[in-house]
Amino acid sequence: MAQLNNVLDILKLLDKSNCKKCGEATCLAFAATVHKGEKRLQSCPKLANDVVDRFSDEVQERRSPDQDAVEAMARLKNQIAEMDLEAAARRVGGKFSNNRLKVKILGKDFSVDSEGNLFSDIHINSWVAGPFLNYVLHAKGTAPSGDWIPFRELHGGKEWQGLFGQQCEKPIKNLADRYSGLFEDILNIFSGKQVDRHYSSDISLVLYPLPKVPVLICYWKPEDGMDSDLTIFFDVTMEENLTIESIYTLCTGMAKMFEKIVQSHG
Ligand code: SF4
Repeated sequence: MAQLNNVLDILKLLDKSNCKKCGEATCLAFAATVHKGEKRLQSCPKLANDVVDRFSDEVQERRSPDQDAVEAMARLKNQIAEMDLEAAARRVGGKFSNNRLKVKILGKDFSVDSEGNLFSDIHINSWVAGPFLNYVLHAKGTAPSGDWIPFRELHGGKEWQGLFGQQCEKPIKNLADRYSGLFEDILNIFSGKQVDRHYSSDISLVLYPLPKVPVLICYWKPEDGMDSDLTIFFDVTMEENLTIESIYTLCTGMAKMFEKIVQSHG
C-alpha cells in the first residue's frame, strides 16, 4: 500500500477544489488536520469510497507527530554516526574540532558529534535539529549565488506555497505590522544583515539559518490604503543544500521565534 508520509501525500488524494465541505478553508488545510490526526479522511465528501477504504486505516493508525519526529531524529543520528564529519564540515561551511562539527545557525553555535548528539548554547528546538542534520548529511555545499527567487519557484514550491504562506510569511508580516522594531531586533539577535532594498521593499534583510542557506526577507509597509506585504526569498542554489521540507520547517521555526520577540515587548 502506498504510504501517507506527510501533508502533501494526503493532499494528492484530494481533488483540490477548496470547496470547504469538510469544514476547512482549503484542501491543504484539511490535509494538515488529517496529518495531525484531528480529522478523518472520510470528512471529505468528495473522496471516493475506495480511496477512503484504502488509506483510512493508515491515517487512523498514524502515531502522533511527536512520535514520528522522535523516530525521524533517531534515523538521522544513525546516518550521522556513519559519516566522516570532518569532510562534512568542509563541505557544509562548518568547522571540525574535538570530534564535533560546528556551524552557525542564525548566528548561534550548533554542533553535532560523531554519534549524532547535538549541542548548543541555546535551546535546541525540533524545527532546527532536523533541518540541521539533513543539511550536514545531504548539502552539496554549493556556494550561494546572490540571485533570489520566491518560495513558489523552488522545486515543489507550488505545492507547499499555501502552507508556507500561512505558517511563515503571513505570521511574520502580521508581527511586523504589530511591532515596528521587529526587524531591528532580528538583526541584532540573529546576526542578520540589512541589504539594499530589493523589489522596492521598505526593509530587506538577510539571515543565515544555515551557513550556505541564506534567506532574504522583504517587507513592504502599508501605504495609501494598501495592506502591508512580506515575501521570503531564497538563493537559487538553495535546493542543492537543503530540501524544501527542511526549508519549510526552518522558516516556520523562525516565525515562532519572531513571535517570542514580539511577545517580550508586550
Ligand atoms: S471537502 Fe474535500 S475537496 Fe472540499 S475543501 Fe475539503 S478536502 Fe477539499
